[in-house]
Amino acid sequence: MKKSIWVVAHHQVTDIKPVTFELLNMADALARQIDATVNTLLMGPSVAALSSQLIGLCDNVYIFEDPMLEEYHYETYQQIFIKMAERYRPDILIVSSILRGTDCFPRLAAHFGAHYVAGCLDLSYQPEEELIAYHQAVYEGRAILEGAFRLDRMAVIMTRPHVFAPSMERKRKETKVSLLEISLSPIEFLTRRVSSIKNVAISLGEALVVVAGGRGMQGAGGFKLLWELARRLHGAVGATKAAVDAGWCEHRYQVGQTGSLISPEIYIACGISGSIHHLAGIQGAKTVIAINEDPNAPIFKRADYGIVGNVFEIIPELITEIDSL
Ligand SMILES: Cc1cc2nc3c(=O)[nH]c(=O)nc-3n(C[C@H](O)[C@H](O)[C@H](O)COP(=O)(O)OP(=O)(O)OC[C@H]3O[C@@H](n4cnc5c(N)ncnc54)[C@H](O)[C@@H]3O)c2cc1C
Repeated sequence: MKKSIWVVAHHQVTDIKPVTFELLNMADALARQIDATVNTLLMGPSVAALSSQLIGLCDNVYIFEDPMLEEYHYETYQQIFIKMAERYRPDILIVSSILRGTDCFPRLAAHFGAHYVAGCLDLSYQPEEELIAYHQAVYEGRAILEGAFRLDRMAVIMTRPHVFAPSMERKRKETKVSLLEISLSPIEFLTRRVSSIKNVAISLGEALVVVAGGRGMQGAGGFKLLWELARRLHGAVGATKAAVDAGWCEHRYQVGQTGSLISPEIYIACGISGSIHHLAGIQGAKTVIAINEDPNAPIFKRADYGIVGNVFEIIPELITEIDSL
């Protein structure tokens, strides 16, 4: 029987999110090596219309709609993944670490006794040994682990965002769209949402550009400049622990060992010294631009481009320059 690779789609109200196309690209490359089908699980309260964006990119789209998915509850998601896996027996399930439901996947792997790889950076087939080889970021990205597993049972793979190139190339002539028919048992929620974050246009984990600030921004007022720059670059704002501890922005913006681990295309570090704890969060960043008035600041060792100067002079100049373009 043909093997099957499943990808869990990530979406917003009207769009499939780019990270889904990264996962599908990775799944497609592996599927060609092991002769597998690529299947996408699209789930949410009302997602059927989004399936058209997946045509040609995979063999099957399975849609699961339920009003209960309006809010994230671990208990609901876990039921769906377990029932889907029991019915379709995926060989490999690929998800992004920024997906809602990431807390389900280690448990799902434990439930099925599956192989589990978190922080996956790539997957490739080694035909001689019949192994799937992978690289995995560990210790906050400070080390890369090489590993391999045999497809003797299910594998659950959680990838980091921006590690694979997204592909919109519609390589398949046909994509079958079906409804995933599983019934959810009534559940007593163990978790309850007590607040929600509204109007967050681009999340830190997904943003291709992150403008981050540290103690050098000198206050919440200084961070307003960062929001202005981030908005113009369609990016997100990040912060050091020092800025968060000072109350200039919330902890969800913190980047680093005890904050988010991110992999944007461009990271602009403003008034950030570049401590190892902070740098642990940007191991995956492609290009780092640092603005700091101290030419000996450690951030310049990590930076691809450095500007020695005062953030309160340079950032407004950048904003004016962008506006004039
Ligand atoms: C267990 C542990 C976990 C930690 N986890 C994290 C974490 O997840 N994330 C994190 O960020 N930190 C973390 N830290 C804290 C970390 O060690 C540093 O203290 C912190 O990152 C420093 O933040 P900073 O760069 O904003 O401040 P500072 O180190 O004080 O640097 C401020 C920089 O701003 C520059 N500057 C000042 N004024 C200007 C100006 N006007 N224009 C330009 N440049 C200016 C200065 O030259 C300086 O380089 C952790 C620490 C510990 C012990």
